[in-house]
Amino acid sequence: MSKYICTIISKTPISPAQRDAWTSLASSLSVTVTSTKVLSDRAEDYTIQLPANLEFSALKAAVNPICLQEKIDVCLQPDNVFRRGKRLVVFDMDSTLIRQEVIDMIAAYADVEDRVSAITALAMNGEIDFNESLRRRASLLEGVPATVFESLKSKIEITTGAIELCKVLKKEGYTLAVLSGGFIPLASWLKGQLGLDYAFANTLEVSPDGTALTGKVLGDIVNAERKAHLLRQIAEEKSIELQESMAVGDGANDLVMMGTAGYGVAWNAKPIVQAKAPARLNTESLQDILYILGYTLDEQTALLGDS
Ligand SMILES: [Mg+2]
Repeated sequence: MSKYICTIISKTPISPAQRDAWTSLASSLSVTVTSTKVLSDRAEDYTIQLPANLEFSALKAAVNPICLQEKIDVCLQPDNVFRRGKRLVVFDMDSTLIRQEVIDMIAAYADVEDRVSAITALAMNGEIDFNESLRRRASLLEGVPATVFESLKSKIEITTGAIELCKVLKKEGYTLAVLSGGFIPLASWLKGQLGLDYAFANTLEVSPDGTALTGKVLGDIVNAERKAHLLRQIAEEKSIELQESMAVGDGANDLVMMGTAGYGVAWNAKPIVQAKAPARLNTESLQDILYILGYTLDEQTALLGDS
């Protein structure tokens, strides 16, 4: 019998109906619950054993309807030393660590929103790939003052719970990185704000006199494959096993790094991303990632308290 941890997380205190939906499903599939642990009034851990005839993927598929019906997230992962023994977390930036999509903010600044949206739509329909879409969107920014990123910093909204999550993980000795398909000036700024160890993103070329963007992208484009490559590179640099890593993101271009990491979490992602990701979290605070890593709320509060 294989042992797994099932973490149920709710936006609000877990109701008897939500708990019943999970425990009834478990018993209907002959899943044995060997222990339970209350992480907070919104999160509970169940150590489970699957019967020989039940594949992990089948259990994962079976929990989907309850997640939708009961508005809970049910995260399933192997019950082993790596569940709590993680050492590296890599994050996407736009719509993950921050609420906005930076390209849209720059487009609004440069008054080219419609043209950027049209390119984004082409990319979402699969008519052009990420690299081509980034190059085309960047080309619309030719002539935009190089100070654009400076003026956008005050408009960036950091996602609720991101500061607390990063603070706890840094106290616990984690290595943290932002791997963004956006732009390096803001990813670097965010690294400073959240105390991250690494920031990787795309570089927009600036004119020789330093005043304006040329519309060109320099160097390797940070796309889905590059994000996964950077995750491997950081892990190797820090002598961290991939099993000791977690990736968090909201987009289709985060799925490769999620699959490369020991565990991957889709954060308030589009349905297609949620369906393909190892786990998903649809709550209001990124701090809830700590439940998936096994921290009780009391432990989180203690780690946040004496700084
Ligand atoms: Mg994103």
